[in-house]
Amino acid sequence: MTLRSVSSDFAAPDGGFIGPSLCWWTISRARPMAVCRDIGLHLDASVPAVTGTLPPGHPFAIRATVLTPLTAGGSEHLADGIVEVDAGGRIAGVREAAGAATAGVIDLRPLVLLPGMVDLHAHLPQLPNAGLGAGLDLLTWLDRYVFPLERRFDDAEAAARLAPAAFRAFAAAGTTTVLAYGAVFKASTDGAFQAAEAHGIRAILGKVMMDRITYDERIDPATILDRSLRESEELIARWHGADDGRLGYAVTPRFAVSCTADMLRASAELAARTETWWQTHVSEDPGEIDEVHRLFPEARDYVDVYDRAGGLGARTILAHAIHLSDRELARLVETGTRIAHCPSSNLFLASGVMPLARYLEAGLAIGLGSDVAGGPDLSIFGVMRVGAYSQTVRRVVADDTEPTLAPLDWLRMGTLDGARALGLDERIGSIEVGKEADLIAVDPRMTAAMRDLPYDPAEVDAADVMSRLIFRSHPDMVRRAWVRGRRLEGPPGPA
Ligand SMILES: [Zn+2]
Repeated sequence: MTLRSVSSDFAAPDGGFIGPSLCWWTISRARPMAVCRDIGLHLDASVPAVTGTLPPGHPFAIRATVLTPLTAGGSEHLADGIVEVDAGGRIAGVREAAGAATAGVIDLRPLVLLPGMVDLHAHLPQLPNAGLGAGLDLLTWLDRYVFPLERRFDDAEAAARLAPAAFRAFAAAGTTTVLAYGAVFKASTDGAFQAAEAHGIRAILGKVMMDRITYDERIDPATILDRSLRESEELIARWHGADDGRLGYAVTPRFAVSCTADMLRASAELAARTETWWQTHVSEDPGEIDEVHRLFPEARDYVDVYDRAGGLGARTILAHAIHLSDRELARLVETGTRIAHCPSSNLFLASGVMPLARYLEAGLAIGLGSDVAGGPDLSIFGVMRVGAYSQTVRRVVADDTEPTLAPLDWLRMGTLDGARALGLDERIGSIEVGKEADLIAVDPRMTAAMRDLPYDPAEVDAADVMSRLIFRSHPDMVRRAWVRGRRLEGPPGPA
């Protein structure tokens, strides 16, 4: 290997020091090249392509504002803090910078370090359609916009074209963990896993299962159930738990309208037997709910369809759940079933407005989801904004008297609560010693109405920082993202 170039195009903000320790190997199968990204050092790579687990990053420490929810409750805000990451990618220290040694520390002030966002609901093949089809009802939108797009996400080549860019886009939006649906095809789901493996994002993916409606006419309908179960199991064997749990599998029946009771039951059995997740949609749209009642006359309600299939429980993430009856709500709480709240999708497709405060009061476990492309925006900050406005609308129009969430509550829901919904809160979701370093660095200056005014982190409290990030999000404000201490491609780096 020979040294090819040393670029000087990287400038530390405010003249801060960029230590050579912030350097790691990224190995691309397509472009074998080793890059020390943060110091712009490019090495010629006559090295063989490497597959499997990437080497761990070097230990490093970052100086920045630190804002995180805490597992024990409340949050921590250090206007000028240092976060240390060890060689294994775990958080080794979180401290005030005042009085601490700063030699070799990477100075990212005035960026704000947050835990990476957790997106509990997205559809990988639909990303190219984000922002299209506003106001259509769910079933029309699926037919007109979604199924044609998913039909084209059918092989490894389609995955290679789309998935790497999709994961870069998630990272650029600040998402470090994503739970996503593929299409019905095994090959493209496998390709998406390969892209996630190479990119470094934490991803739980699943091949969509549907046997009542299908957009893959090449498969004999009589064989769809067996084939879909077999292909899901093959993907589980290859990917679930890969890279020490960074990648995982979610068994993914699309929703009750497109699945028979047999498929719902068999898929839930598969998830339970393989200790994977089980994800689907529930109670999103009034037309969809009517259709479920028609298709499952024996069920008491929509939630009961999944209950009868054995699908409820702590490893299950149901998207939407907007129009729940009291009985359905109580049953979801009782079974510990998790909900992906997708308010931007719910308004985009005119599905409804979740009574979030009532659900939280009842003890429902809820995180946030973008639901791209039902939702137009990959950013969980954008989802928080629409969620907050939705709550306000319920107060103003529907006489909702429960308290609305404050900015730091939204931060918790988009990070630690999302991690908890996945059962990963011991590993990720907050910036606390011992957790894996899934972090993002966000530039708060980009959220100001006037950029020319001086910004002093010491004069801004935690709620105000978060309020601006939610209500004045800038599409490029996430400057860096890391998973387990490894930097992700996508965010543009400090300006
Ligand atoms: Zn969805």
